[in-house]
Amino acid sequence: MGDSPGTAIAEGQVARAEGGQADSQASGAEGGQPDSQAAVAEGGQADSQTAVAGGSQPPAEVAGDGQGASVITVGGTGQQNAGPAAAQEEAEKAAQEAARQAEEAAAQEAARQAEEAAAQEAARQAEEAAAQEAARQAEEAARQAAAQQALGRTVDPSKPMVALTYDDGPQPSVGNRIMDCLAQYGGKATFFMVGERVGSYATEVKRMVAEGHEVANHSMNHKYLQKQGVAEIQAQVSRCNDAIEAVCGVRPRVMRLPGGGYNSTVLANTHMPMIQWNIDTLDWKTRNAQQTVNSVLGKVKDGDIILMHELYGATGDASMTIIPELTKRGFQLVTISEMAAAKGYSLEAGKLYSSFR
Ligand SMILES: [Zn+2]
Repeated sequence: MGDSPGTAIAEGQVARAEGGQADSQASGAEGGQPDSQAAVAEGGQADSQTAVAGGSQPPAEVAGDGQGASVITVGGTGQQNAGPAAAQEEAEKAAQEAARQAEEAAAQEAARQAEEAAAQEAARQAEEAAAQEAARQAEEAARQAAAQQALGRTVDPSKPMVALTYDDGPQPSVGNRIMDCLAQYGGKATFFMVGERVGSYATEVKRMVAEGHEVANHSMNHKYLQKQGVAEIQAQVSRCNDAIEAVCGVRPRVMRLPGGGYNSTVLANTHMPMIQWNIDTLDWKTRNAQQTVNSVLGKVKDGDIILMHELYGATGDASMTIIPELTKRGFQLVTISEMAAAKGYSLEAGKLYSSFR
């Protein structure tokens, strides 16, 4: 007896049925170990059933969103009751994280595109600005070239040119008319002036310089140098240069001999290039504008040096026709120094030049 619990219970049940001790035993059995065992057994079973039941319900609840299943498996390791809430939270977190990442990626992409667009726009604007600046500079260069051409400061060696020269001035009544006309046509001339006159007509001489004409030497007192000695030849030349320079600030680089006369002593002592001519208008002799015009227009060629005199009104009149007509024929009206340079001549002291062909 007492070999197994089953036997003991059976004996207890028997004893209970017999009463007496059996009651106490039975009550002991009921209130004692058997009850606690039964309670434990029932409680254990109930717990386990509850646990099982509890564990089997969440799938039904979470099954709907599909992601619940995997989360429940994890929950089954011991947090049976916390499982559903954690899964939902995890899902929400995952969704939030995905949304956050998507939002961040979208923001980064938008920022990248905006940056790229801004860079492209900046590059386009820089290119456009550079093009506009280049166009503006080209336009300005063309304008300046045209202005210089109009001022006679730029000579095109490939185009024909003529040097108009006016002797014996300054003489404002004629010289200013000539300069007015030259300004209108963008031409330049050379004024071979007598030194003793320049102090009286300083304003005209200064205008010559201001407008790009060449101020040149025609001796101090218009003495024929071939009749002078060495000292007077040198004085006639140097004093004229001094007088012109004193009035306008420019020292002449070329001279014309009074009457064109020279000998070996003159050539050796002027110490300047001496400019003769190859077209003599004889304006001083005819005092006739039309004859002066004809003498020029009938034979003028590229590289010619034309001799006229500033003292005569007829010469001024003739110039009003000569200047426009030569311009119309395509001649550049240039100074002696400009023409020499354009034609490749280096002007040398002591030498005579009658044209630059
Ligand atoms: Zn003269």
